[in-house]
Amino acid sequence: MSLADNIRKVTPYTPGEQPQHKVIKLNTNEFPYPPSPKVVEAIRAINASKLRLYPDPDCRELRETLAEEYGLEPEQVFVGVGSDDVLSMCFLTYFAGKKPILFNDITYSFYEVWADVYRIPYETVPLREDFTFDPAGFIKENGGIVICNPNAPTSLEANMDDIEKVVAENQDSVVLIDEAYVDFGGHTALPLLKKYPNVVIIRTMSKSRALAGLRIGYAFGSRELIKALHDVKFSVNSYTLNMPSLAAGVAAANDREYFEETVDRVLVTREKAQETLRAFGFTVLESRTNFLFAKPPASITAENLFEQLKERNIYVRYFKKPRLSEYLRITIGTDTEMQEFVKVLQQILP
Ligand code: PMP
Repeated sequence: MSLADNIRKVTPYTPGEQPQHKVIKLNTNEFPYPPSPKVVEAIRAINASKLRLYPDPDCRELRETLAEEYGLEPEQVFVGVGSDDVLSMCFLTYFAGKKPILFNDITYSFYEVWADVYRIPYETVPLREDFTFDPAGFIKENGGIVICNPNAPTSLEANMDDIEKVVAENQDSVVLIDEAYVDFGGHTALPLLKKYPNVVIIRTMSKSRALAGLRIGYAFGSRELIKALHDVKFSVNSYTLNMPSLAAGVAAANDREYFEETVDRVLVTREKAQETLRAFGFTVLESRTNFLFAKPPASITAENLFEQLKERNIYVRYFKKPRLSEYLRITIGTDTEMQEFVKVLQQILP
């Protein structure tokens, strides 16, 4: 035995870079506009002297607000420190069996990291050649399923009939549906919650609600599944969300008008950016997210373009992995940022 034998060894997830100098930042799918003015107000209204107290461990007000907004009961809502925390708790809670869990070969790369850290066996199910979702691979014995829809980093949405098929055929497994990007024109699996007790939907305020810096994520499911999630959470850390995040989350969830208006702006910018890239000879997948997954024209490799953009202080995301290495993932910024991005692209492209 040695010291090292007692220490857990894991290969961690690598988040996108957060450069501290001024750049055009199109690399981590943050929202390009500020959060709702009501969020700013809620944060200003926080009584700092109250910070000596612990926050509400049940996060009751935020859960009630989300329940009302989405037509559910508060007992069907779980909240956590970003959807990464919520997903991690879901892995720990729902994937305690011995059979392998299933997720796509190309999807959010954190899933395999949680499976590894919690010692959950897993198998990957290939997306089709064109990166579309194939439900057939999920019709086999398993200990749980995770589907990211719309998917990252491909930006594509799976057809809801295919998602329902996977849920219906796997009623002995929990099916997690990660809807981090659904607000950008995707279809939600929320209606499936009424029909199937094995679905859990995970959402975040980091993207469409412009609150990545506060870390607020949530999950919807049956009372039983959400109760199981709370039992695990209270066995790890009772006080997850801090007071400012709870207050801001309530304000954000209540401001539907600002949310819809700013998301619409991003969608308009996305359509313009998609057209421009296609005109430059890029292959751009049909995005239902706040980013584009695009393959540059044959005159330049994705890696080379990524490096050259970075040298000019424009950060996008490049994955040096099988099936992904010919593409770049480009977050939709403001119109001004996208214009600058296009201008720089014109300078770089041969
Ligand atoms: N799911 C997907 C698919 C994501 O891309 C991200 C962002 N990296 C997350 C979950 C986690 O987001 P957050 O923890 O900020 O809610």
